[in-house]
Formats: sequence, C-alpha cells, structure tokens
Amino acid sequence: MPGDFIKVKCPDCGAEQIVFKKAATKVPCHVCGSTLVVPRGGIGEIKGEILEVVG
Ligand SMILES: [Zn+2]
Repeated sequence: MPGDFIKVKCPDCGAEQIVFKKAATKVPCHVCGSTLVVPRGGIGEIKGEILEVVG
C-alpha cells in the first residue's frame, strides 16, 4: 500500500533508513541497532524522526 514505507532518522546515531511502518517485529537501526519501529498490531510506533514517505 502507498505510504507504508517511510524514511526515518535514527534518534541515536542519525542514520537514515527506510522502514515498513506496519512491521510485525521490531525494526533495528542498521548502523547502531537502536529500535526504529515498535510493532503495535497495525501501524508501528515510530521512534525516529520521519523524514519522508517513500511508497
Ligand atoms: Zn542508529
């Protein structure tokens, strides 16, 4: 679905990463391992700053 992927900025290291916002499991930062998305049974809780919606 459009809008399900967003680019977020890691709150800990500042790395930018594209994540699926309806993730079923925690999504870690690929650089530092900090959690970027916490699953919430639908749209996840986004921990980082949302930079843009990518698709
Ligand atoms: Zn990070």
